[in-house]
Amino acid sequence: MESNKPVLLFDMDDVLALFAEGFWDEVALRFPAVKIPHISVSNSWDLCTVESGLTREMMLEIFESPYFFRNLKVAPHAVEVMKQLEEANANAFICSAPYITNPTCASDKVEWVGEHFGPWWQKRVILTMDKTMVYGDYLFDDKPVITGLRKPSWQHVVWDRNYNRDSKGLRILNWESAYDFISTLPVPKRNGFRVRIAKFRAFLSSLL
Ligand SMILES: [Mg+2]
Repeated sequence: MESNKPVLLFDMDDVLALFAEGFWDEVALRFPAVKIPHISVSNSWDLCTVESGLTREMMLEIFESPYFFRNLKVAPHAVEVMKQLEEANANAFICSAPYITNPTCASDKVEWVGEHFGPWWQKRVILTMDKTMVYGDYLFDDKPVITGLRKPSWQHVVWDRNYNRDSKGLRILNWESAYDFISTLPVPKRNGFRVRIAKFRAFLSSLL
């Protein structure tokens, strides 16, 4: 790992993958009586609280459908940016929480990354139920608040969506602006500390 580059973690659902769009497409197919909310007004993280008539049982039926996650569309311009990050040999990983009661979700996610972003990224998939346990400098994620067992090592970069507009901190608007945004992220201080320690060690050994 090149220490002068930040460690970047990218969420999948509604960051790399068009999860909400795929979900509501599936609702329209299976439950035609449900009123599909327009993406610009669905401002709730919980899909069942929108005024749609969607029940939790309907939602779970889709979440738990084999291959649902395998067939999601990729977010516009994500492929180009991920290619640029690969070419820059970024310290970047994909960090996603699989839906554990869906029997194919975890393998679907790994296959999906391979199909859309290729083997370099496929080897950088981290599936976890607790993102606070994953080391990184920046986590790009649309979830309004991310909690877990530990105080995260990463800083949450909120991927802009209607339902996270109240979340504080760094915010990224879309993939179109992502590469420039990422390029201007400060390198974490730990690197400077490590470099100073390495120089100090080199200085000590030169005295011996
Ligand atoms: Mg997400």
